[in-house]
Amino acid sequence: MDRYKGELLSDDTRRFLAQPKRMAIGGEWVEALGGGMLEVVDPASGQVFDRVPAGEATDIDRAVAAARRAFEQGDWPRMRPVDRERLLLRLAELVEAHAQELAEIEALDNGKPVTMARAVDVALVVDFLRYMAGWATKIEGSTMEVSVPLVRDREFFGYTRREPVGVVGAIIPWNFPLLMVAWKAGPALASGCTMVLKPAEETPLSALRFAELVQQAGYPAGVFNVVTGHGHSAGAALAAHKGVDKVAFTGSTEIGKLVGKAALDNMTRVSLELGGKSPVIVLDDADPAVAAAGAAQAIFFNQGQVCCAGSRLYVHKSRFERVVEGLSGIAADMKLGAGIEPSTQIGPLVSAVQQQRVLGYIRSGFEEGARALAGGAAGEGEGYFVKPTVLVDTRDDMRVVREEIFGPVVVAMPYDDLDEVARRANDTPYGLGASIWSNDLSRVHRLVPKIKAGTVWVNCHNILDASMPFGGYKQSGIGREMGRAVLDLYTEGKSVIMAL
Ligand code: NAD
Repeated sequence: MDRYKGELLSDDTRRFLAQPKRMAIGGEWVEALGGGMLEVVDPASGQVFDRVPAGEATDIDRAVAAARRAFEQGDWPRMRPVDRERLLLRLAELVEAHAQELAEIEALDNGKPVTMARAVDVALVVDFLRYMAGWATKIEGSTMEVSVPLVRDREFFGYTRREPVGVVGAIIPWNFPLLMVAWKAGPALASGCTMVLKPAEETPLSALRFAELVQQAGYPAGVFNVVTGHGHSAGAALAAHKGVDKVAFTGSTEIGKLVGKAALDNMTRVSLELGGKSPVIVLDDADPAVAAAGAAQAIFFNQGQVCCAGSRLYVHKSRFERVVEGLSGIAADMKLGAGIEPSTQIGPLVSAVQQQRVLGYIRSGFEEGARALAGGAAGEGEGYFVKPTVLVDTRDDMRVVREEIFGPVVVAMPYDDLDEVARRANDTPYGLGASIWSNDLSRVHRLVPKIKAGTVWVNCHNILDASMPFGGYKQSGIGREMGRAVLDLYTEGKSVIMAL
């Protein structure tokens, strides 16, 4: 590690980095059975700074077995809901107490600015765990009047129960490593499930640190297990495992389809949070400066590596020049740097592969006739930087307009009227998010139902709250995470009918 980074790290982070990394299985810290290791790369320098076990199918087998034992035997199934609530609150407290350390781990591992990791990622994790803790005591069924036409001389009584679905297999991406852990662990632990988590190979560290905090909070052994490893081995084994009752996947639509098919082969319950190509729609009454700042935040937050990033900007033609000029100015002024530097606004992308992918998209845009008003190239230095990029002269059929780039690249296009922009906004296989920028309430309310997306923001973008369900229409996924809605994914319904 570079010395300057050492100075930027807290003692806690240095202590965590210095210890050999093992996987959390059944309350033990273990190496991969095959003995393999994965290198962890600092995206700001390209240097390897840590190693984690490369778990494979046999490691998934023992983790699922541990999760099964914990689900069926010992303290966890006997635990009262109020005790599950207490444990989750304790875990939230521990995450909060280690906020700086966790933010630094995210910044080093993923590349994201440490200030954002702390103020957004870790803060959302704490909120979400507290929110889910509250649900542990509020998982309820209902009672029904049951009357049977054939048996009129007998009385019946009916009620429903919601029971934990069982062993959850969670597979998560690298863009919000810790937050994605929490999105799966929160509802699983609130509802009484046990789980096996497979973090992304690019960003395994915060999941391992989280597993230590789970242990410290006092969870029984085997309730929360982590297997680090590659997607094609450990991930595929988890998705297809017959001992898993529910697969929770967040990642690309391409892999989501594979995971969904593998799970459904066993009729395993499955929820999928996938990719997006979310539109930002600026109406003709919007303040151009506000819209430009909003559009910048929509696409450049987290280096554009956000599933609901506002990657297509549609601006009414009367405002187009001013909004795009404002946005390009903001893009050009953003400070690129290592995530761990407190002044960094845009960090590197997560990996060399991702950087090349994004640069390839920019090139394809140029080849098809697009022009960059800002960025359009890699950033300086060893790291995997891409300059915040604003493309204009794009057409609806270009790859940069149609495909998820997953980087700091926005395509900006003018439009004439609302019906046209609604049609173009929906002209995508995805449907995760959208934002509308306007103070004209009537037109906003008319537009909202027309947009086929799981979340529509008005005069904001990328705002998440634990209480608000999040998920996608169309190829952006199946199911809703967060809010009350997520409990349906982690519980199984049971109808009980009694003859009295
Ligand atoms: P990815 O699909 O490549 O990988 C996601 C996870 O799947 C990783 O843990 C990976 O190891 C694993 N995996 C890879 N191949 C697998 C296989 N054959 N079987 C089982 N698991 C496998 O996605 P990524 O590149 O890590 O993340 C970026 C994608 O995630 C983007 O498309 C983004 O839009 C999406 N995403 C969606 C949401 C959401 O909530 N909808 C949130 C964050 C990211």
